[in-house]
Amino acid sequence: MSLIAHLRALHTVDSQVRGIKTRFDNAEDALRRHELKLDVVSGKRRDLDKQTRQVQAMISNLELEDTTFKERLDHLRAELNTSSNPKIYNALRDELKVVEGKRDELAERIMAQMENLEKLKKELESTDSPSSDQTRLRDMAKATLQEAKSELGGRLAELEAQRGRAADLLKEEVRAAFDDAADKNEGEALAEVTIVSLRHREFACGGCNAELPLDAYSRVAAQADQLVTCLTCGRILYMDQIPDRPGAKKTKVAAKEAALDPDQLG
Ligand SMILES: [Zn+2]
Repeated sequence: MSLIAHLRALHTVDSQVRGIKTRFDNAEDALRRHELKLDVVSGKRRDLDKQTRQVQAMISNLELEDTTFKERLDHLRAELNTSSNPKIYNALRDELKVVEGKRDELAERIMAQMENLEKLKKELESTDSPSSDQTRLRDMAKATLQEAKSELGGRLAELEAQRGRAADLLKEEVRAAFDDAADKNEGEALAEVTIVSLRHREFACGGCNAELPLDAYSRVAAQADQLVTCLTCGRILYMDQIPDRPGAKKTKVAAKEAALDPDQLG
């Protein structure tokens, strides 16, 4: 088996491994995205809930204060009703006014906090549906990932073992070049040399279209199991059909083909 045949076998199984991994990665990314969105909504809800409880506690305290004022006022009024001394009466009346004023102020503060509470409750309520929507989406993303893993997890392990065996047949440097090319080119580690013009000795990488030096073409065309990579994209280059050199003595079949297709030689 030629080097390219080995590399092709590796590529076949490597593409399948990459395909499954990409599916897992995409499902994991989607799950992460939904978890983040849910975190944002949940965080907002927690904040609002905390604020709501703080305001509720504040209102309770203010109401307690109000009870104290009320008791004081009741007491002052009772005293006022029984007072016969005008001096004491006036003093009690003045104090009554002061406490009443304070109690009015307090009532305003309670009202303001109650309005605040209503606003917070409404805001909290408005996060109900986004929160359940995001929870549903997160759960769906989780299910998709789990499904993919249970459906393809076994297959992936099998393919990875196959891939390991295919890679073991190659020299370390070839394996490294393949992995590098595959990583850089979304799994497309191999590329056929394109003949731009044989007469002008112009060749290109079939993967990235970069021009190839004549030397690279010659080494690929020699089909001597040499590792030749495109300097631009790193893909490992191959040629299935090696054209005759221009001017070289043509075989009958090649000459016939050339005659049928005058553009073949560029
Ligand atoms: Zn290239």
